Amino acid sequence: MDTKAGFDTLAVHAGQTPDPATGAVMVPIYQVSTYAQDGVGNHKGYDYSRSDNPTRTPLQHCLAALEGANHALVYASGLAATDNLVRTIVRPGDHVVCGDDVYGGSYRLFDKVIRHWGVTFSYADFSTCDLEKAIPEGTRLVWLETPTNPLLKVSDIAAVCARAKAVGALVAVDNTFATPYFQRPLALGADFVVHSMTKYLNGHSDVVMGMVALNDTATYDKLKFLQNAAGAVPGPMDCFLVLRGLKTLGVRMDRHQQSGKVIAQWLSTHPDVARVYTPLLPSHPNYAVAQRQMSGFGGMISFELKAGNGLSSLERARRFVAATKVFTLAESLGGVESLIEVPALMTHASIEPAKRREIGIEDGLIRLSVGIENVEDLVADLEAAFRA
Ligand SMILES: *Cc1c(COP(=O)(O)O)cnc(C)c1O
Repeated sequence: MDTKAGFDTLAVHAGQTPDPATGAVMVPIYQVSTYAQDGVGNHKGYDYSRSDNPTRTPLQHCLAALEGANHALVYASGLAATDNLVRTIVRPGDHVVCGDDVYGGSYRLFDKVIRHWGVTFSYADFSTCDLEKAIPEGTRLVWLETPTNPLLKVSDIAAVCARAKAVGALVAVDNTFATPYFQRPLALGADFVVHSMTKYLNGHSDVVMGMVALNDTATYDKLKFLQNAAGAVPGPMDCFLVLRGLKTLGVRMDRHQQSGKVIAQWLSTHPDVARVYTPLLPSHPNYAVAQRQMSGFGGMISFELKAGNGLSSLERARRFVAATKVFTLAESLGGVESLIEVPALMTHASIEPAKRREIGIEDGLIRLSVGIENVEDLVADLEAAFRA
């Protein structure tokens, strides 16, 4: 496939050709661990599925095309991708600068696992900080997540990359929320893109998987070595499901965004809502940066309920999320079905309350992952929950 083809064409075809043996238009699920050899070492490119698998290879090629990268590698989860990338880049004594509200599991991996190797971490709010102070000389790696979760803060990727380059640091961007459909970090100067494909890329809440995309071939060779050496690879069935999910990424993201906008606008005029967080609305503090570096935004919206009816905002939030019927009360995001959750009680409950409020995650905050159902049904569902 010509890598200059449009995004949706690449999403359907890149890395994939009809099966030469049968003409099957979908890449088959090569549910196999080992491959026959004609003579010792004489095989057709595959010898053992930890190293390579014929369902995984087309997926990696398709993902590289979507991120505009030379290479992509897939892993058994987003955190396995993060772990393999960080362990390939940093050595004891190195310093990493990380966003201060990155995905909790990424923070846990850095703080509870990788830090014990003698790697130091500092944390910064890249959407507001002085980049020169936040990224000191000698930094090895900058870990940037934008938009963030659950406050959907947006940081200027090109500005962070320019500062990182000036001090010789590499930059990894966790692009899970935006997806390559709306944001291409490598084109803005990043060295690596990381995804939890568990979310929008697969999009159907039926797979856990991660990926790293990059241009530099020497680093790719090291990552590929670790992928095989440590073995955090996904199975063929899951690779097939993500290949299938990717084909509709563009149409899904358009719908997530369209419905997200309707819901965000409706919430922002609701008397029981203190504040709505989404780069979809001009009232967002980073609206200008978002407009510049993203071609759109998905269906992630957070909003703060006011206290009222004799209830604290936390208690109201707890009742609200229990009352929805179309929105399912659950963690995770990015699937075709709408999800709802209370960060203070669920995804961000492990952060101590005072610290949580300092970051800006109020008790009454509710996070929505707006799915692709009819938007009238979604609005009616939220409307009923306000009255519950
Ligand atoms: C879910 C998530 C991860 C972790 O991915 P898993 O597939 O759950 O391991 C990393 N970053 C972000 C932004 C996420 O939402």
